[in-house]
Amino acid sequence: MNPPRTRDYWQTLADGLDIRTQAFIDGKYVDAAGGKTFDCISPIDGRSLGEVAECGAEDVERAVKAARRSFESGAWSQAKPFKRKKVLQKFAQLVEEHIDELALLETLDMGKPIGDATGYDAPAVARCLAWSGEAIDKVYGEVAPTGPGELGMVTREPLGVVGAIVPWNFPMVMAAWKIAPALACGNSVILKPSEKSPLTALRLAGLAAEAGIPDGVFNVLPGFGREVGEPLALHMGVDGLVFTGSTAVGKRLLQCAGLSNMKRTYLECGGKSPNIVFADAPDLEAAAHSAASAIFYNQGEVCTAASRLLVERSIKDDFVARVVEAGRRMQPRHPLEPGAAMGAMVDEAQTERVLGYIRKGLDEGARLALGGKRADVVAGGCYIEPTVFDDVRHGQTISREEIFGPVLAVIAFDGEEEALRIANDSDYGLAAAVWTRDISRAHRIARKLRAGSVWINYWDGGDMTAPFGGYKQSGNGRDKSLHAFEKYTEVKATWINLEA
Ligand code: NAD
Repeated sequence: MNPPRTRDYWQTLADGLDIRTQAFIDGKYVDAAGGKTFDCISPIDGRSLGEVAECGAEDVERAVKAARRSFESGAWSQAKPFKRKKVLQKFAQLVEEHIDELALLETLDMGKPIGDATGYDAPAVARCLAWSGEAIDKVYGEVAPTGPGELGMVTREPLGVVGAIVPWNFPMVMAAWKIAPALACGNSVILKPSEKSPLTALRLAGLAAEAGIPDGVFNVLPGFGREVGEPLALHMGVDGLVFTGSTAVGKRLLQCAGLSNMKRTYLECGGKSPNIVFADAPDLEAAAHSAASAIFYNQGEVCTAASRLLVERSIKDDFVARVVEAGRRMQPRHPLEPGAAMGAMVDEAQTERVLGYIRKGLDEGARLALGGKRADVVAGGCYIEPTVFDDVRHGQTISREEIFGPVLAVIAFDGEEEALRIANDSDYGLAAAVWTRDISRAHRIARKLRAGSVWINYWDGGDMTAPFGGYKQSGNGRDKSLHAFEKYTEVKATWINLEA
């Protein structure tokens, strides 16, 4: 019989983990060229998890050279799609066999509850790899509608060397959303994980090699944004750059592309997503529970967090009371505690940033309905109470800026028009939801919402079959689904004169 998966069980497993801390270049784990390392701190209790290779420009050179050589060799880029499918399926299977290890690394590194990491993150990586691999030998080219004297073919080819820069909130899922379609399409990839959460990316590199990804095709460079991210973004030998992270860094990467070789650059950036609840929502209790988990899940460190709750004025007080009650039951606990609804914030800096926004909300006159303080869960750790601000005025800082923490801003509205005006009056356009029993209103509003994902009567639907990405300053291009392949391929038109 399997032992019960208690906190002690996970702690024992954690104590025995063999943590990969070196960079992965050209099929091997190696030290950074300069020999530098940085301390990888767990936000659970502030303890060090190890010294991780701190890569820099020289490592970018090494990785680009290896990636280019592997791309030109054709070992992967010219392999039949069927062959790439098999390897990605094997990679997915290895991830499945290592779900507990990967999930534990993620939890220790960035503080999310172990139940979320085993229940969502690690399995989502396996699904993404398998789905992308399985799709790639079912994607056809086109034949243009020409006259009889010529043949016009439209085909897709891999970009070449792709740099992927990812954040810390879903470290391995964000990495998978990039590397799975990039590899499926035949590219060679250089992945730069966040300096706040490098461990799962480094472990995935070993599994990729074990699955049969050839040397040089998948490289991982841990390190800081300026030291390793920018040299990658500025490199003339990188053909494509895909990014998930903040809008500010996304804008910088567009500049880097312009300053270098116009590399194809696709961004998934921030959000300030509106969750619109009308008085005729089908089930107000269910809507309130959803509203709470849509902002408190993953400690609110979610790009699609429903951070603006727009509630029709006639039900606002009652609805907020329900959300507060649901939020109260989601207090942060030790992330290795099974069933924890919230864990630790990623680090001290993010904790301070979020607490700063809470102070700002109070200063600007919003009413604190729940939380608002640092939570004392584990000594040396980074925890914040689930926090709800009621009576927020549209335009106040906490209604406009992405907080990326467990802080909800509630704004009352009167009628459809005002709800839409507030919802769309944002620099971002990542996601939105509307709760109503009126099907015509649901469709009317869904059409008018300027967001890449719209949910009706729930939050955060979606799987590998549908694209994910943002309008406006939430980014460009789409992750997941067949649309993701568009980012990792060039389109070629070949004309053949049949009368020659
Ligand atoms: P961030 O922009 O600070 O960092 C993201 C990555 O970029 C990290 O790997 C970092 O090291 C690197 N980086 C930082 N400065 C760089 C530079 N000058 N040049 C090159 N690389 C650089 O973001 P974060 O704090 O890690 O993540 C939080 C942000 O990510 C939030 O804004 C969130 O909304 C966004 N996000 C978006 C999505 C989405 O799909 N739209 C998903 C998850 C997170």
